[in-house]
Amino acid sequence: MQPDIVVIGGGTVGAAIAYGLAMRRQKVLLLDGDDGDFRAARANFGLVWLQGKGLDMPAYQALTRSSTELWRGFSDELEAESGIELFLEQNGGLAFCLGEEGLEKRRLDLLRLHNQRGGGEPDWEMLDRAALERLLPGVALGPKVAGASFGRRDGHANPLRLLAALHVALLRRGANVRHRARVNRIEPAGADFRLVLNGETLTAPRIVIAAGLGSSALARQVGLEVPLRPERGQVLVTERLARFLPLPASGLRQTDEGTIMIGATKDGHDFDVSTTTEAAASLSRKTTEIIPALAGVRLVRHWAGLRIMTPDSYPIYAESRSHPGAFVAICHSGVTLAAVHASLLAEAIAEGALPDTFSPFHQRRFDVPQAA
Ligand SMILES: Cc1cc2nc3c(=O)[nH]c(=O)nc-3n(C[C@H](O)[C@H](O)[C@H](O)COP(=O)(O)OP(=O)(O)OC[C@H]3O[C@@H](n4cnc5c(N)ncnc54)[C@H](O)[C@@H]3O)c2cc1C
Repeated sequence: MQPDIVVIGGGTVGAAIAYGLAMRRQKVLLLDGDDGDFRAARANFGLVWLQGKGLDMPAYQALTRSSTELWRGFSDELEAESGIELFLEQNGGLAFCLGEEGLEKRRLDLLRLHNQRGGGEPDWEMLDRAALERLLPGVALGPKVAGASFGRRDGHANPLRLLAALHVALLRRGANVRHRARVNRIEPAGADFRLVLNGETLTAPRIVIAAGLGSSALARQVGLEVPLRPERGQVLVTERLARFLPLPASGLRQTDEGTIMIGATKDGHDFDVSTTTEAAASLSRKTTEIIPALAGVRLVRHWAGLRIMTPDSYPIYAESRSHPGAFVAICHSGVTLAAVHASLLAEAIAEGALPDTFSPFHQRRFDVPQAA
């Protein structure tokens, strides 16, 4: 099958775009690397999250908001397409605040975001300790917890099931998915692109580069300078517990399997995925300040993954000017944004051009004019 479009990178971003393209009857070939690659999609915390996001970037706030609005429908459709349950719960989410000062700072931060949006019904409310206790019956909070912000659009899902579901749905929709298919080079070939793999060459009229931290080197070959850096996130997982936490919180959630996920740190800026005892200690300390009873629970896993960060931490969605038909898609919230990647973004790529709503995300915002 000659593809209409090749998506390079089978993480949550590439797979969601490929899925959206396949649902729009595009002939899709998804090429993914191998287990030696850095793979953010497999280290993920699983939040579908709006609160606190997009300060100084209204377009990101709006995009994230749209994605959280689309997530329920996206999840229903993907579950039906793949037969895999995602365990989406989107009944709101919490950010615990320690001390009255912490609570007030959170209120002011969210108010700034609300004002940036230009008013309307707030996406969040502040809860004092008494209101928080009513929301979490049976959870004994630590003495320092003054309250929390409650984001009504927030939620969580199982991120590994999301990834698996996207891959299964792609296959069921007739897409070609290839693993251990590293693209080493991209060469323009007339109006098409020639993709050079190990011992093999493919051509395609359009390509999407969504290869996470592997994207910069590929994007450069089609005239897109995509500055990226890694940011390490470490996550702890406890043994399974009977269900007691009805809502996810930033940094603390109970999974569909009963484990508690704790994290993620932002603690390293090189390509190092080792875990550290310092991070385990500080994550455990913070968590037991919020829910002291968790001090008696066993930790069973500790992992680190690398977020894919742009200089301002916001996504890059761009089409190459010098090589039309070559797109790049990068972000560090691939679960939250999966619903827009599979719909608005995939639709724009299928139609052949990104609309104005995506222009704030073009990588040219990082271009520095040359000194005269
Ligand atoms: C600790 C941690 C917690 C996170 N928590 C959340 C969260 O709660 N909510 C949320 O929304 N997001 C979260 N994220 C971010 C989320 O995981 C990422 O945004 C998402 O996984 C990005 O996926 P990606 O597809 O861009 O990159 P990746 O998952 O890294 O995938 C890139 C893929 O490209 C492939 N590749 C690389 N080079 C090539 C090549 N040359 N040819 C072919 N294939 C190639 C790789 O093999 C890889 O499979 C978290 C990230 C981390 C690290």
